[in-house]
Amino acid sequence: MVSTPSDRLNRERRTIQAMVEIYCHGHHQSTAALCLECHNFLSYAMQRIDKCPLQNNKPTCRKCPVHCYKREMREKARHIMGYAGPRMMIYHPILTILHYNDEITNKNDLRLKNKSRN
Ligand SMILES: [Zn+2]
Repeated sequence: MVSTPSDRLNRERRTIQAMVEIYCHGHHQSTAALCLECHNFLSYAMQRIDKCPLQNNKPTCRKCPVHCYKREMREKARHIMGYAGPRMMIYHPILTILHYNDEITNKNDLRLKNKSRN
């Protein structure tokens, strides 16, 4: 599967947005729009992607070696991913598959670099 880096970053944005929506609807009884707290988190996350120093080489956030989120946002991200992650497959199966594909095919996973042979 061929995907350009900008596709990947756009997909990252869409994935994060979808996860925040699932989390917010489940936790904050929001309906159409996100609550203020989740809205703020989402803007923060988008900013982080825009300012990501790895940009074109960016792995998915879960595997990223650069921990760019400040502590409270990282905590919130963990909660959101933990809740929305398993539900993503139900609500956004294609996006989820592409996201995992990004994780698997990414060659810039620095954590696994020494362990895997490709
Ligand atoms: Zn919310």
